[in-house]
Amino acid sequence: MIEVQRDDLDTQALTQMERVEQLNKRLADFDTVLTERSRLRDAAKAESAERHRDTAERLSELERERAAAAAGVPAEAMALFDEVADLHEGEALSEVQVISARHREYACSACSTEIPFGVYTRLLGEGGAVVQCTSCRRILHLPAETEATAAKKR
Ligand SMILES: [Zn+2]
Repeated sequence: MIEVQRDDLDTQALTQMERVEQLNKRLADFDTVLTERSRLRDAAKAESAERHRDTAERLSELERERAAAAAGVPAEAMALFDEVADLHEGEALSEVQVISARHREYACSACSTEIPFGVYTRLLGEGGAVVQCTSCRRILHLPAETEATAAKKR
């Protein structure tokens, strides 16, 4: 009888020990997961800080470039640029779209409003002429190739 009870106790003790072992193993696994998560979080934090730094650097670089570019533009034109940019979420410029050069048909590429031939020739002629679209008020400019050709003739 006593022998049987001892066996029982041994078995119970063994079972308990096995459970403790299992719990320890689960704890160890949990620690591993936790360590890995912490590592990932720290890495993400570092990357985010670095990106923030890069963005801040790029922004100040762009601000310097903008200031340098703006320095060559007359104050009046700059004020107009800022005013129109505010109207169109920063898009102050619009390229003149050639609908038909033969029929002298041109349009504002941003809002599709027709641009009179006279306005087009003003852009072709005077260097630095600031001409706005009569509808959306964006500052008009010629397509790059047209501008290059016109610049040679001036
Ligand atoms: Zn327009």
